[in-house]
Amino acid sequence: MAILRVALDLPLHRLFDYRSDGASPADVGRRVRVPFGRGEKLGIVVEVVGHSDWPLEQLKAAGPLLDDLPPLPQDFFALADFASSYYQAPLGEVLLSALPAGLKRLDPPDRRAGRASKAKAAGALPELTAEQRTAIDALAVDGGFSANLLFGVTGSGKTEVYLRLVDKALTLGRQVLLLVPEINLTPQLEARVRSRFPARNVVALHSELAEAARERHWRAAFAGEADIVLGTRLAVFTPMPRLGLIVVDEEHDASFKQQDGMRYSARDLAVVRARQRGVPVLLGSATPSLETWANAQAGRYALQTLKERANREASLPAVDILDTRRLILREGVADPLVVAIRERLARGEQSLVFLNRRGYAPVLACPACGWVSRCQRCAANLVLHTADRRLRCHHCGFEHRIPRACPTCGNQDIHPFGRGTQRVEEWLQKEFPEARILRVDRDSVKSRKQWEAVLERIHGGEADILIGTQMLAKGHDFPKLTLVGVLGADSALFAADWRAPERLFAQLMQVAGRAGRAELKGRVIVQTQYPDHPLFAALVAQDYPGFAAVQLKEREQAGFPPYAFQAVLRAEAPAMADAIAFLETAAALPVIGEHDAVMLYDPVPMRMARLASLERGQLLAESFSRPALQAFLPRWREAIEALKAPAKLRWHLEVDPLEF
Ligand code: ADP
Ligand code: ZN
Ligand code: ZN
Repeated sequence: MAILRVALDLPLHRLFDYRSDGASPADVGRRVRVPFGRGEKLGIVVEVVGHSDWPLEQLKAAGPLLDDLPPLPQDFFALADFASSYYQAPLGEVLLSALPAGLKRLDPPDRRAGRASKAKAAGALPELTAEQRTAIDALAVDGGFSANLLFGVTGSGKTEVYLRLVDKALTLGRQVLLLVPEINLTPQLEARVRSRFPARNVVALHSELAEAARERHWRAAFAGEADIVLGTRLAVFTPMPRLGLIVVDEEHDASFKQQDGMRYSARDLAVVRARQRGVPVLLGSATPSLETWANAQAGRYALQTLKERANREASLPAVDILDTRRLILREGVADPLVVAIRERLARGEQSLVFLNRRGYAPVLACPACGWVSRCQRCAANLVLHTADRRLRCHHCGFEHRIPRACPTCGNQDIHPFGRGTQRVEEWLQKEFPEARILRVDRDSVKSRKQWEAVLERIHGGEADILIGTQMLAKGHDFPKLTLVGVLGADSALFAADWRAPERLFAQLMQVAGRAGRAELKGRVIVQTQYPDHPLFAALVAQDYPGFAAVQLKEREQAGFPPYAFQAVLRAEAPAMADAIAFLETAAALPVIGEHDAVMLYDPVPMRMARLASLERGQLLAESFSRPALQAFLPRWREAIEALKAPAKLRWHLEVDPLEF
């Protein structure tokens, strides 16, 4: 009689024992059907043992072990184990969320594994620049674990470096894991990878794939049949028996951080996985996260820099900061920017107006009585969308038709305040009636198909002026784009969030990088009321290292990450008082007294205090020692689990939080 120790997808930090007659240790890593409550669940066998702490007669018999998949390998468990203990997430949740949906099902459809991809071969390879060669030579693909940062401006040839290293790994007979922030926004990268390696099996793994395709690709990776796995954050867990290299492109991108459910950083797990597997990991960015930059500065990561644009004719764009305090603005646009757009139009070149706020206006208001369009469920305003005449909450999805008159006082003269992309688009069309204007944001581009169509239009020269959000800033090469105008940057300058400058700088560098990638010289115009802000000086000089040095000094003085380590306990309840009271209890648990190196702040409402009708409070735990924080967290979590929380209260812990 063997005992199966089974991980189930439940918010509980424990495994479940079942009796099984024929099981052996070789069944570790298999999926198994087990009775649970009144029903059945699919679990993963974590251990096969001879003895249970439970009386044998109380154990239920496990159902059949599934054999449509080889047992999950040891390193899959090693990474899940790490994620579980580091992020305080139940092992079962981690293990099962790392599987494609079809393999978590009790009654999965029958499916067969992968097929080779077909792609046209690329032409001749470009001759590497000296900097690229140095970066490639510095990374020993067969030299065991190493963590590397490739820092280079947009267009400096980072992707070319990835591809050469991928080639080396493939030649050694290894598989490569290439992680990207949002695959939807990077069809160009996928196409480039496929055409560079036409004889190789390249599979994509991301959430927009149909379930069957995702499972097929995952199986191909696990079977060692896929040579290159191109995926988003969850792909970091994909079993790959011949793994030889991990690349994380745009490593600073916040979408590598999962912000709900199992909260983890795929970028950080990529480094852990590389260490566990003894393979190199390469992080690439034009604006590395400050955490990564600090690691490189401290020598923990090897740093390779590409200073020049790879294509010699393409120079870096000139950045002008436009002081709007003495200028007249029309719909937020200053005249010098209008003039610059007009010049591009006359020359048949493209302009891009960047405004990271979608919708027509962020709020509708009544000047007579002070009514504003608030979301009933969130601490947020309803955004005015004129295209389909709705007021819409960008946080919870609540929506409503636009009222004809003020709902409070009946005044018919209610106004939109502020502006989003739709409003600027409308104005640009009036100002430039002859121009073809294309708006690109999550309202106008909802799917990958639409996005590809939009890219095609831009490349085909079918748009003169682009107006859009950060969607436009990510990794695209628009050959005719020579002007980027930035609106609305100031709101992030003085935000309460101390990470806001880092994000703003990355965004502006990225969008500035869109200008003048090819033979045409680019120009960037940033409108601001704070032209003397040091962030803009760094932007003009395109000086990320200077910017990072100042930011890191400030972080060090303030005791913020990466010089301190944080975890946050959040509680959500219908009433804020309940959430705060729960956090106060958690802040007073006896276990806290036993961990001197960890400091707890006072419980406070989250910055967005109400979301979808729930009030949200948070309690920050911080330490200058990572091991001290890691020693504290499991004991604290166990003590919190033992608390009696009010019925409608939900809580979770997040380690290394990005948002508060
Ligand atoms: P990044 O990933 O840093 O933005 P890419 O690798 O996409 O840079 O390179 C930018 C452009 O320069 C691409 O069009 C690419 O084909 C080209 N390129 C890259 N390396 C070279 C090189 N050594 N010589 C000429 N062109 C290059
Ligand atoms: Zn009113
Ligand atoms: Zn809402």
